[in-house]
Amino acid sequence: MAYTEQCRDVSELNILCQMLLEKALIEIRSVGINPLIVETYRTQARQNYLYSVGRTVTGTKVTWTQASIHTSKNAVDLVPQRNINGKMTAIWNAGDKETKKIIETMVKYGFEAGANWAVSPDSPHFQIKNVSSSAKSYSEDNTNTYITKLIQKLLNTKMKAELIVDGKWGAKTTRAVNKFRAQQGWVEDGKVGIQTLKKLLA
Ligand SMILES: [Zn+2]
Repeated sequence: MAYTEQCRDVSELNILCQMLLEKALIEIRSVGINPLIVETYRTQARQNYLYSVGRTVTGTKVTWTQASIHTSKNAVDLVPQRNINGKMTAIWNAGDKETKKIIETMVKYGFEAGANWAVSPDSPHFQIKNVSSSAKSYSEDNTNTYITKLIQKLLNTKMKAELIVDGKWGAKTTRAVNKFRAQQGWVEDGKVGIQTLKKLLA
């Protein structure tokens, strides 16, 4: 794919990010919203190209960074699309009701929403920061506040673990994760790996 084109393929994302996104998309669609995946994985060549726009290449600046979470397969840009005057139209408006619902749902599934940034908000952008692109498991060393909160919330729901949900992955979280994994027959390596996350989201 040429670096001037965006990739919209969900399967190009990190496997765990993919699972959370798919779950969020089901919920978004269930309330009648038609989400448009604008971009998923971005090669570094494309990020560098985007950075050059408005700098060394003519155009309006589209990005402030050469280090995007899109390049680590843990980000997606998502907007609602609606039929306006007979034409399917992408809505680029952070104040839009359907956009707000998408943001709320993505946050619920562990994504950090660019729309909520105090400085340079980026409305259609959602990311999972500090997680490696090839990660097959979330753990104390491979997580962030949003993902940790999600896992704690899911554990609380699944087994009334009575966690203190403070966004930190401490000993209590590890104990609860291990207890849950034991209940599932220790099917997965790592901490919250693919199988464990699937079971937590089920
Ligand atoms: Zn983005």
